Amino acid sequence: MTIPSLLALVAGLYLIILVRYLVVAGASSLLLHWMQPGRPRPIPARRGDRRRDVRLSLQSGLVFAVTGALLLAAQAGGHTRLYAEPLRYGWWYLGLSYLLVLVLQDAYFYGLHRLCHRRWLYRWCHQGHHHSRRPTPWTSFAFDPAEAVLQALFLVVVVLMLPLHTITLLAILTTMTIWAVVNHLGLERLPIAFPHHWLGRWFIGPAHHAIHHQRHDRHFGLYFTFWDKLLGSEDPGFAATWCVDRSGCAVVLPDSRGGAGYVDETLRAPSL
Ligand SMILES: [Zn+2]
Ligand SMILES: [Zn+2]
Repeated sequence: MTIPSLLALVAGLYLIILVRYLVVAGASSLLLHWMQPGRPRPIPARRGDRRRDVRLSLQSGLVFAVTGALLLAAQAGGHTRLYAEPLRYGWWYLGLSYLLVLVLQDAYFYGLHRLCHRRWLYRWCHQGHHHSRRPTPWTSFAFDPAEAVLQALFLVVVVLMLPLHTITLLAILTTMTIWAVVNHLGLERLPIAFPHHWLGRWFIGPAHHAIHHQRHDRHFGLYFTFWDKLLGSEDPGFAATWCVDRSGCAVVLPDSRGGAGYVDETLRAPSL
């Protein structure tokens, strides 16, 4: 592939990534205000938070576009394990490979995320994402360039090592996008019982991740809670919490540190 065609590919992918970000984050922000009128609205983000989140997302979008273009160039040269015939490994493999990549990505993200919270790495690769203590959908792709590179690296390795159908890859990218936005809705917008349901408690949702933006030593996972449970980084009170205002409230969290603590007003029902 020539340099001009590679640059054209980067530009095209960047445009797609930007439009996807603007549409998904913008639509989610609007829905937060239009839907579920009985539930509390998030306290508006601090002045400048949204602008900074968008700026970081534009930067990380460029990293993802360059990575995507390089992968497509590698695909054109026959260097990836992407395939087009759905039956090459059987129908069952389409679903299995989808789940496998999500589980692997969750494990990678957990380890990387925890590492990025080490003092010597934090400023370099993760501080940008945490400027917003009250996440919004605009925070979902707000990464420092170094963190964006480290995140993109995962899919590069996967596509080079694991046979993946192109539709499976698109399904994974779509899941990543939607999940990232849902995790940054700020308040619990899923059914109130979700974090306590026998199945729901294994999935990360808005309240789970909102706590991470309040307390940096808790809740590092991406899709599933099992790494946080297994390695002791899930707030011990999280699974035992429930809503105190059934007219529509966020999950209200007890303070596991024994004080009035980290329960943030964004996680409180207005009546509290
Ligand atoms: Zn973090
Ligand atoms: Zn976040």
